[in-house]
Amino acid sequence: MSSPEVTSFSELALSAPLQKAIKAVGYEQPSPIQAASIPHLLNGDDLLGVAQTGTGKTAAFALPLLNRVDLSQKSPQILVLAPTRELAIQVAEAFQTYASQMKGFHVLPIYGGQDMSGQLRQLKRGVHVVVGTPGRVMDHLRRRSLDLSNLSSLVLDEADEMLRMGFIEDVEWILEHTPSERQVALFSATMPKPIRKVADRYLKHPKEIRIASETATAPHIEQRFLMVNGFERKLDAITRILESDVFDAMIIFVRTKIATGELAEKLEARGYSASALNGDMNQTLRERTINRLKKNQLDIIVATDVAARGIDVTRVSHVLNFDIPYDSEAYVHRIGRTGRAGREGKAILFVAPREKRLLHSIEKATRQKILPMELPSGLEVSSRRIERFNQQLTDTLESQNLDFFYDMLSKYSTEQERSAEEIACALTYLLQKDKPLQFEETPKRKKSREKIGSGHIEDSSKHKTKGERGGSSKRKSIGGSQMTRYRLEVGRNDNVKPGDIVGAISNEADIDGEHIGHIKLYADYSTVDLPEGMPNDLLQLLKKVRVCNRPLKIKPEGGQRPSNEAKKKMPKKNTGKAKASVTEAKTKTKTKTKTKVRKRKANG
Ligand code: AMP
Repeated sequence: MSSPEVTSFSELALSAPLQKAIKAVGYEQPSPIQAASIPHLLNGDDLLGVAQTGTGKTAAFALPLLNRVDLSQKSPQILVLAPTRELAIQVAEAFQTYASQMKGFHVLPIYGGQDMSGQLRQLKRGVHVVVGTPGRVMDHLRRRSLDLSNLSSLVLDEADEMLRMGFIEDVEWILEHTPSERQVALFSATMPKPIRKVADRYLKHPKEIRIASETATAPHIEQRFLMVNGFERKLDAITRILESDVFDAMIIFVRTKIATGELAEKLEARGYSASALNGDMNQTLRERTINRLKKNQLDIIVATDVAARGIDVTRVSHVLNFDIPYDSEAYVHRIGRTGRAGREGKAILFVAPREKRLLHSIEKATRQKILPMELPSGLEVSSRRIERFNQQLTDTLESQNLDFFYDMLSKYSTEQERSAEEIACALTYLLQKDKPLQFEETPKRKKSREKIGSGHIEDSSKHKTKGERGGSSKRKSIGGSQMTRYRLEVGRNDNVKPGDIVGAISNEADIDGEHIGHIKLYADYSTVDLPEGMPNDLLQLLKKVRVCNRPLKIKPEGGQRPSNEAKKKMPKKNTGKAKASVTEAKTKTKTKTKTKVRKRKANG
């Protein structure tokens, strides 16, 4: 971790409107990449940052660059290049959030597949920041609709992804068409040779920042991760875990102060004694909360990293990383809140599909594999509820004087000619009415459960429902290696490039770029190989997606074409052996895709 001396945003020379926006969004302190990058970028230095999504890198460049934006000048001063339209939109939204207190500020995302006239209108009207995919940015530069003569900073975001998707020559072309005095910040999760070359060629004495660090492993702490995305789905997962795992006390880590309050409230509403712990609370209040946890008056603390620093409570049996930490050091610190005084501890890590890389770097730094966990099924949740209920029955029978009720119910039984079991059933029904013993999979819950784990090819749930195998679990159902060739009604005559197709499919259908196979361009159509078994709803969705202003109208071209690696049978997900082969197949697909992308460049 770099720049440990910067511990609060107020220490950074950011303008008042930016400080206000940071406060409003609830960030407590700069993440390591922010603490390290912001001073250099404020200084006007070029920067080479090795960091992945989830580390807070967007704010690491957006905040210092916004600091220098001149709102009265309406031509683009900052250009961010991103590999996908999804990331371009995300980054543009982040700029909008951080500039919320800067009146008259305009940011514009531009990407392929989007209507050109709207972009042209907006560019004409004047914008301060442009965030775009390389292909579309090139289009605008060629048409002279994007004027970069006043550009002061250029950011290459997820540079290795741009390389993987075959965009690197486009990126260099764009770099060549920017003023020579501009500042460049290059962010990449990895530093392959071609990216290093770009950095050597276009960056001037860059400051280099790396967020990975080697960290000590935590012994008697069992570590597991769960692929899950979004607040509601994470909340559903947490509820199942709390209900089925035997836990004593738990610390849940989130990223923002706002989230500590929100999540603690939701858990309280579900009957848990939970409380928030964050940097807004004064020292006394924080200590009181920790003491309540120590004394069994509280079972769950929802905390930010800062507030939970150094908590030493022996009864903490679980640490749950609701939001993935920025780096491995923070991870080790967090999970070290359990397994105290030689006890066993459990650490659970929620990982969103886009954060997979962060998970791998934690594994690398701690030199420990974190295994996927299975989300407790409805059946498991029910049986835990019944177990607890039975225990309550036994305890009550053993400890209470029940004579009054015995007489009352004996009389009822005789008068109504009802057996003791029948009466017990009715009473149990009444008792559990508000909190049913049977875990019912409501359609909403089921949908949410199906989404949990999607995108994670190694996640093996014992309790798969039919819906989980097909339906909306898109990435899971297309994760094999058998490929089908599809025809798209857009071709060379429409000026389409393979990158546009990869971008559109990966973004709209939520398919990892690495699962998109060979693309061939013809004059008025093209073909793409996609994993076999594309669910119909996904196909319908893709049909309407527009690339180069034309709907894809995707349809299977003919029969199935097994790809080379697909000669191996598509592995089932439930066994360890199968999991290994899925990973292997996936790696192969990845390598293959890389070569294909290169070939595609030649074709396109
Ligand atoms: P990024 O790596 O830029 O994709 O950011 C990942 C997530 O971290 C986003 O949801 C940000 O809103 C959040 N984030 C960024 N910086 C901070 C911070 N200093 N404190 C808390 N959350 C942050």
